[in-house]
Amino acid sequence: MEKIQAIRGMHDILPDRTPRWQYVESVVRRIMASYGYEEIRLPLLEKTELFKRSIGEVTDIVEKEMYTFEDRNGDSLTLRPEGTAGCLRACMEHGLLYNRINRLWYSGPMFRHERPQKGRYRQFHQVGVEVYGIDTPDIDVELILLSSRLWRELGIAHKLELQINTLGTAAERLVYRNKLVQYFRTHYEKLDEDSRRRLETNPLRILDSKNPEMRELIQAAPVLADDLGEESRNHFQRLKELLDEAGISYVVNPTLVRGLDYYSRTVFEWVTDELGAQGTVCAGGRYDGLIEQLGGKGSAATGFALGMERLIELLESPEKLDAAARPHAYLIRVGGEAERRGAALAEALRDALPNLRLVVNCGGGSFKSQFKRADKSGAAVALILGEDEVRDQLIGVKHLRTEEGQRTLAQSELIPFLQTLI
Ligand code: ATP
Ligand code: MG
Repeated sequence: MEKIQAIRGMHDILPDRTPRWQYVESVVRRIMASYGYEEIRLPLLEKTELFKRSIGEVTDIVEKEMYTFEDRNGDSLTLRPEGTAGCLRACMEHGLLYNRINRLWYSGPMFRHERPQKGRYRQFHQVGVEVYGIDTPDIDVELILLSSRLWRELGIAHKLELQINTLGTAAERLVYRNKLVQYFRTHYEKLDEDSRRRLETNPLRILDSKNPEMRELIQAAPVLADDLGEESRNHFQRLKELLDEAGISYVVNPTLVRGLDYYSRTVFEWVTDELGAQGTVCAGGRYDGLIEQLGGKGSAATGFALGMERLIELLESPEKLDAAARPHAYLIRVGGEAERRGAALAEALRDALPNLRLVVNCGGGSFKSQFKRADKSGAAVALILGEDEVRDQLIGVKHLRTEEGQRTLAQSELIPFLQTLI
């Protein structure tokens, strides 16, 4: 019978690779706590309307990337393509936005029906950070500092460059939008098909085109900075000053516009040239208008999301992280007495050494076959319990990853020995 396979672009993360994920997740968790960010857990499914209203009808995500379906009641539901909308929905629904500041983070799978390729999947994982209730650029800088610390802790800071830009307010963007449309209209023959479509629907997105043939035209396009009002200009100026003070280097990229409609003022991306075309590892910015757009009160909001797959791809020696998570010891036990004594011994060891990773052979087998399993488990040492060892209260020890020969310890020496492996 033909075997059923996973959906294209949706990947299993097998046990030999989960340690690197767990490592990154643990660093993320620790850094979030160190900045006072609280975790929020959100549903994977939301009403389709939520994403249409927040992300924007004429964005790539809503136009062609969402997994949308009718449930049994006929409601239109969508697997979340990103976390910002759901996070805001939850906070509004539970009254968390009223008169207070929220610093939040979440993580988990997101779903987009894109063309699968390296660094681009249909189910992928994000860590997202959102802050509500602060409209000054110091908080934008805090988000950048937090992400920058994460890169340092993970040893990948040297591979990432910070790009920033400002998108002004919605009103300022409207003026700019008209200028941009005029500019691209006069060069209509040079626009690719995608850009011609965007000229009508979402002209700012033309600036985000990845088509190299469009680059020259985009470089010469008018820039938004010329149309900013005083407040937006100051906000951006202050952002840059604070980044300078914090010693964070950055590049101002006037064509950085982001793919979602809800951004205003600050936008930023951490990019690398080590991942080919999928070079953005982390992206975010301010989205002050979104709360009102969703029918809520209060306004200031800023955040970012990072792509876990792309981040993990940048780690220096991920295989070392995977190897470091293998068991310390595998207990071989041959014979009925050894099985009984071994079970009790293993529990006593786990009581005494909570960080010990110990696998107990189950299902019987000869010494030879149990040694094979011990080797496959990746354990550093095999502990050997046969009839003789049980009788004399001894235990055999064999290092599986070095050439050292087998030796015998008194069972009472086992705890201090295992401590040296942890
Ligand atoms: P891109 O320009 O690569 O399509 P985006 O602007 O659509 O990215 P965001 O919505 O800002 O991406 O998501 C934030 C981060 O999530 C991205 O920078 C990237 O690291 C990751 N990401 C987005 N889409 C995917 C995907 N399909 N597969 C894997 N990671 C993704
Ligand atoms: Mg995208």
